[in-house]
Amino acid sequence: MKQILWFRRDLRISDNAILAHAKGEVLPIFIFDINILDKLPSTDKRITFLYRSVLKLKQELQAIGLDLAIFYGDPKTLFEAFKTKGFERVLCSVDNDHYAKARDKKIDKIIKLKRFNDSFLIDPKNVLNKNNMPYKVFTPFYNSLNYLWEANRIEPFTLSKKMHKIDFDYTTCPTLRHMGFIKQDLPPFLLQTRDELLTAFKNKLSNYTEDRDFISISGTSQLSVHLRFGLISPKEVFNIFRSLPKSKAYIRQLFFREFYNYLLYHFPQSQFQNHKDLEIEWHNNKKDFEKWSTGKTGVPIVDAAMKHLNATGLMHNRLRMIVASYLTKNLLIDWRWGEAYFAKKLLDYEASSNIASWQWAASTGTDAVPYFRIFNPYLQSKKFDKEGTFIQSILPQLANIDTKLLHQENGVQSNLFLDYPQQLISIKESRERAIKTFKKANYENA
Ligand SMILES: Cc1cc2nc3c(=O)[nH]c(=O)nc-3n(C[C@H](O)[C@H](O)[C@H](O)COP(=O)(O)OP(=O)(O)OC[C@H]3O[C@@H](n4cnc5c(N)ncnc54)[C@H](O)[C@@H]3O)c2cc1C
Repeated sequence: MKQILWFRRDLRISDNAILAHAKGEVLPIFIFDINILDKLPSTDKRITFLYRSVLKLKQELQAIGLDLAIFYGDPKTLFEAFKTKGFERVLCSVDNDHYAKARDKKIDKIIKLKRFNDSFLIDPKNVLNKNNMPYKVFTPFYNSLNYLWEANRIEPFTLSKKMHKIDFDYTTCPTLRHMGFIKQDLPPFLLQTRDELLTAFKNKLSNYTEDRDFISISGTSQLSVHLRFGLISPKEVFNIFRSLPKSKAYIRQLFFREFYNYLLYHFPQSQFQNHKDLEIEWHNNKKDFEKWSTGKTGVPIVDAAMKHLNATGLMHNRLRMIVASYLTKNLLIDWRWGEAYFAKKLLDYEASSNIASWQWAASTGTDAVPYFRIFNPYLQSKKFDKEGTFIQSILPQLANIDTKLLHQENGVQSNLFLDYPQQLISIKESRERAIKTFKKANYENA
């Protein structure tokens, strides 16, 4: 049987389900999907990273006697053409994103898809509570995976020895320019190999719990982009770190990634709707949103975070929580606006993690922060960027002021010589307004 190995978000040869299950004549392919790419700006950094990663995968496949045919086009049209060439089966990994599911449904009607759960540790349909229902709260979900924790190691996939590459034109390859993109500079960590990143993080692991929240400390693994595109599998990450001392807090975060994928699988509507049945009277002021997204709210930590995101595609987890709380609670703007903005900008954008995290911050999700617990951005910056190192590195006009002013409401604005926006909104008043609005939203019955 002639098989297509369709690489999508599993751009690696180690622990790869489709390379483990392939048999006979195979055509490994990657498609730069025109339906996704055409909506992105020419300066999208993710496409530069993806392009690099696909070329690297091609080299790795060549080293094991295979190759990679690379296309730019509409998957449906391409698979119709493959069908005429006698391909009977497509092997690929599962993707629970709304677009990916609809696309796979169409392709399955052309050539049968065999999909493997390969981007996450667990298969969501196999994990249910004692009433055979999906978990909605993280802790019981996490506890139910105790068997994984105790296993110490999860068996990785090994390369099939029963496949060989089919004759094909493997030389044609679209260029970034041809696809409408301009090569972008990437942050230095994305130029490192996965092994370099893993080694660097091994040295930080024992301080992870203490350091992970501090914005100017590089205390986290920086593996989210690699996980997103599958340059490393979550199983490999689990196996490497589980056996090391003091890894529990880190593995717990990996399980959050599992939980959010699990929620999207069981509650696909949560991509578009409040998970809880709430009617929140969002204010949705377009000018406020514009100021939030361009970093002009007058709150230094929020502005620095957004400007940094816009320039680099990166944002520390603590900052994501701060800006999401500010948008949804202080400005009362619908989480879907923020979620869509992050989707455009984040290098590690992953639908499931982004959607659930936004619903968490907006108190609309299954397992969300209680609506009355609203982050005060000034207290947050005082705690997690005490010396103002991050804020001042991003906002040069604030570089020489007393750092205490960065952490006080209207502190920066008290210096009349500074070129810095007035606060969009009072933190105290907007907090009270949010609590009133959320209280009316029918939480008792949600
Ligand atoms: C509003 C908001 C939006 C977010 N959007 C995304 C997103 O689109 N893509 C994404 O990968 N993460 C998202 N996160 C989660 C988190 O911010 C990033 O995973 C983390 O900052 C990545 O850095 P790291 O790899 O150094 O993390 P580490 O601290 O080293 O964590 C290890 C891994 O665990 C996973 N992880 C860590 N924290 C979380 C979390 N809170 N939720 C889910 N998975 C987690 C990531 O895969 C990460 O690589 C979001 C968080 C918030 C609050």
